[in-house]
Amino acid sequence: MTQTRKKILGYGIDLVSFSEALDRVGNCIKEKSGMQIVTINPEMINQGHSISAMDEILNSAELVIPDGIGVKIALKLKGVEQERIAGVDFAKKIIELCAKNGYKIALFGAKEEIIQKTRENLQNEFPELQIVYSRNGYFSKDEELQIKEDIKNAAPDVLFTALGAPKQEIFNNEMKQLLPGCVFIGIGGSFDVWSGVVKRAPVIWQKTGLEWLYRTLKEPQRFKRIFPTLPIFLIKVIMEVAAEK
Ligand code: UDP
Repeated sequence: MTQTRKKILGYGIDLVSFSEALDRVGNCIKEKSGMQIVTINPEMINQGHSISAMDEILNSAELVIPDGIGVKIALKLKGVEQERIAGVDFAKKIIELCAKNGYKIALFGAKEEIIQKTRENLQNEFPELQIVYSRNGYFSKDEELQIKEDIKNAAPDVLFTALGAPKQEIFNNEMKQLLPGCVFIGIGGSFDVWSGVVKRAPVIWQKTGLEWLYRTLKEPQRFKRIFPTLPIFLIKVIMEVAAEK
């Protein structure tokens, strides 16, 4: 399948529509060819520049979809009109696809009550969904080996990992060696949303690309994650665009 990628500050981003990306995931599960999906945002690009494991992952991930509004603006500065694919929506569609096709899923991450509620809500929404593993995302180094073994034995077709970046991407990448035919996706705070504990921004905020602002207003501790990361990121992209001319 042809794959169009555009580089932003050194990392390729797939220029795909939501449905194309979903088709690729569907084919990959069917063929058991294995895939790591990264829903990239400016913070993760920064991590790639400072953490070597993240650098390797961003270079080797089979599907890198533009999640944050920052990446959408960066692509626009490079002359590419790309829809934003919110990781939380994309992951939900993968779940629906798994439910319809009898694929097995594993859920890993978030606090205990959140993961329990998420499992319950998903099972209610998709009664036929096969959830073969779920666990909260708080563990010691010793427990990590056992978790990996348990996930391997559960043999899911898709693993949804919600530990925040880069932890979830590094965990997924390590699991890839143990389950080469599995699809891995890091989904950040998605379980918090699916559990009903954290509310998504109203659709109007999502459509106008201001979901990040809504989340920051609701959770002011996120402020330091956005500022100065986002403006610095965009300045670097503007400099990169100027250098390419
Ligand atoms: N988390 C976890 N284990 C950890 C650290 C974080 O399970 O050691 C979970 C946390 O409870 C939350 C998710 O990882 O559910 C990270 O969410 P965050 O909002 O940071 O991710 P974002 O969507 O911003 O990438």
